[in-house]
Amino acid sequence: MSEQINAFEMAQQQFDHVAELLHLDPQVAEVLRWPMREYAFRIPVRMDDGTLQVFQGFRVQHNDARGPNKGGIRFHPNETFDTVRALAMWMTWKCAVADIPLGGGKGGIIVDPANLSTSEKERLCRGWVQNMWRNIGPRQDVPAPDVGTTPQMMGWMMDEYSKLSGEYTPGVFTGKPLGGGGSEGRTEATGYGVIYTIREAMKHLKMDPAQSWAAIQGFGNVAQYAAIGFTELLGGKVACVSYWDRFDKAAYTVSKKDGIDPRFLQSITDQYGAIDKDKARAAGYEIEDGDAWIGKDVDVLIPAALEGQINADSVQKISERVKIVAEGANGPTTPEADEVLKARGIFDIPDFLCNAGGVTVSYFESVQNDMNFYWSKDEVLAKLDDKMTSAFNAVLAMSEKEDVYMRDAAYMVAIGRVVKAMELRGWV
Ligand code: NAD
Repeated sequence: MSEQINAFEMAQQQFDHVAELLHLDPQVAEVLRWPMREYAFRIPVRMDDGTLQVFQGFRVQHNDARGPNKGGIRFHPNETFDTVRALAMWMTWKCAVADIPLGGGKGGIIVDPANLSTSEKERLCRGWVQNMWRNIGPRQDVPAPDVGTTPQMMGWMMDEYSKLSGEYTPGVFTGKPLGGGGSEGRTEATGYGVIYTIREAMKHLKMDPAQSWAAIQGFGNVAQYAAIGFTELLGGKVACVSYWDRFDKAAYTVSKKDGIDPRFLQSITDQYGAIDKDKARAAGYEIEDGDAWIGKDVDVLIPAALEGQINADSVQKISERVKIVAEGANGPTTPEADEVLKARGIFDIPDFLCNAGGVTVSYFESVQNDMNFYWSKDEVLAKLDDKMTSAFNAVLAMSEKEDVYMRDAAYMVAIGRVVKAMELRGWV
């Protein structure tokens, strides 16, 4: 039996552990263990068939000592207040570790967007903003897309906010479509950011990227660009990706012996990250069960789907060959599994460092919105590479100096920066 995971308890456990390592004042720790503000609200939506459906919405603002709260909005059928709390806390650490001047927030709605028509999605997005608009804004809290939400949805949300506030405010949401205030490079940002940190880890471990294989869980935004980056930027090979099939209600791993072609798989993937099995089989791909990705004989594992996927059970299936786990998803490794990775000497690139590329380009997007001047994709990706490389090296330096595991080192860098901002502002 897998353990039941409450993501927020897991986030607090990780924080408590580092608060101890940092000898943090218990009262200061108490401020950081909990979100500063939380919102839960009901969103009535008129459906296309004339019925009224009521959805549960959330927004959590964890800590804004370093700047406005920042974080995605997830549309997911299993969303809970605690998941949103955990993710908001991780956003605080992620912005701090990436050294961007923002705090941590997260939002969500309990819904499976695959069951909604386009116009129902639009009404739901506008409903979320009608509940939250007084408590978000470019200087308060700047949401973005995440699991189940898209640039188009951010466009509707930005429009609703602009209508309600009475002025065009592109900087209130990031991840907007190109031409609608969005930034070049945002689509690739998280997946490529994962790859920049893997490249730095390989330098440190003296591995040859061109001789390396990766196995990836997921095939949504993060996983697709991680797969493309691993093959095109590093010259390595990807053994498999995986996805959730909402019709079969099962996960599948899609693999190929001589390595997958991520651009081809992308061309047969729908907007929810589901791959067309028939077309994949016809092109020589093997369809295995959902857990197969984790047992592949590869050098790098990239969990890029959901939280809690590397747990007490699944960690036992990891091959001897694996040297790096690059956490593309948020919270993919449970504390029990983390101990196993540590004991085996696997180099872990923790989630809030590894997947900080998305929020970094979101930050670049709001900077460009403020300037009303836009950079080219190459400029954005070069700035992203700089930020991710410095963040990785700051964490590696802390890990070597304090002789701690990378996850602890990342927390130490991040929490140290947030505490310093709270002190400078006279909060603690
Ligand atoms: P997405 O919705 O685009 O894709 C999710 C993918 O995971 C899909 O391919 C889906 O089929 C697959 N999936 C879902 N359940 C699965 C299962 N049980 N087994 C295998 N595959 C499964 O989401 P995304 O934007 O790629 O986000 C993935 C993860 O990365 C999440 O944890 C998210 O919070 C995190 N993240 C995303 C961003 C971003 O910029 N998109 C930034 C930072 C972190």
